[in-house]
Amino acid sequence: MKMCPNPNCPNSKGVNGDFCPECGTAIREVGFLESGEIIGIKKDIKKGKKPPLTPEESKRYITGETKEEKEQRQKNEKMIKAQQKRKKHQLFTETMSEDEIRNKIYIDMDNLAKQESGTKWMKAGAMLSFNSRDQMIAAGLKAIIDQNKLMIRQNELLLREIKKFNNSEL
Ligand SMILES: [Zn+2]
Repeated sequence: MKMCPNPNCPNSKGVNGDFCPECGTAIREVGFLESGEIIGIKKDIKKGKKPPLTPEESKRYITGETKEEKEQRQKNEKMIKAQQKRKKHQLFTETMSEDEIRNKIYIDMDNLAKQESGTKWMKAGAMLSFNSRDQMIAAGLKAIIDQNKLMIRQNELLLREIKKFNNSEL
């Protein structure tokens, strides 16, 4: 189908001339799948569901892409997706803001508190009913948890000290 391939132009009808009467973009022959994709984007932008594409993003629709360009783009998209997936498992990334990290710390502390209050073995009475081996494990776990709490509080104090120090420097 010959149509205006510019995703930012609302004209989604077939065109016979060489240029789109609405936006002046060169008309090109677009395959069935691609025309569906372009018309979908045009509609979404027209309805405000999607922001207009940047010149870089619309380029592949306006000029059409070669097989090599398409393969390269799909490879890049795959890589970005894999990177994003990896980021999900990282405790923090360089692009994360301090607020994002702080927010994650609060979520972790909340989870810890919930887990602790919901786990029976943390209660002294329950621990007494364990055999000696389990008692040892439970005591060890409790020590690790307490140590972590200590470190969380110490980190917070350090952070506050650094902030005070930085403010006094100004
Ligand atoms: Zn157009």
